[in-house]
Amino acid sequence: MAITDKIYVKNHRQLSSQLETNIPKGAFKGATLDMLFQGEGLEKLDDATRDRVLDFTQDFLDCSCDNNPYCGCPERKFMTYLLELRAEGLGPDAIVDVMTDDYMVYAYSGDVLSFLDNAVRTLEAAEGLARVDGAEEKHDEIRRAKRNLER
Ligand SMILES: [Zn+2]
Repeated sequence: MAITDKIYVKNHRQLSSQLETNIPKGAFKGATLDMLFQGEGLEKLDDATRDRVLDFTQDFLDCSCDNNPYCGCPERKFMTYLLELRAEGLGPDAIVDVMTDDYMVYAYSGDVLSFLDNAVRTLEAAEGLARVDGAEEKHDEIRRAKRNLER
């Protein structure tokens, strides 16, 4: 399961009741994305909640693909966001705190940790391949990305 399947809406029940509809707990579930994408009923939310929901929409659902929000961009962008937080030196617990502050979503820090571990392994594999190819520049770039993650 991808990390984005394990990102949950904080205060999910409260949000559902403000919206007067039942949205799934998973932030990247189809029905949640639909609700966010269409922006239906968002005016019923309190200000603090609405700001975060709108930030989430702007930051992750803003692509112009025909099948938005089902194009995979939201998930990809969210993973990039997690990797950027890691590159800033944040650990899994801090990353969860920041995503809650930013977007009112949360994850279990263990899930974030395994996502980061996998990302490092993927980069290691890419690093090995680049070395085989003799692509020095690519190799350095990957090694830098990996060092950022491990820091
Ligand atoms: Zn897209």
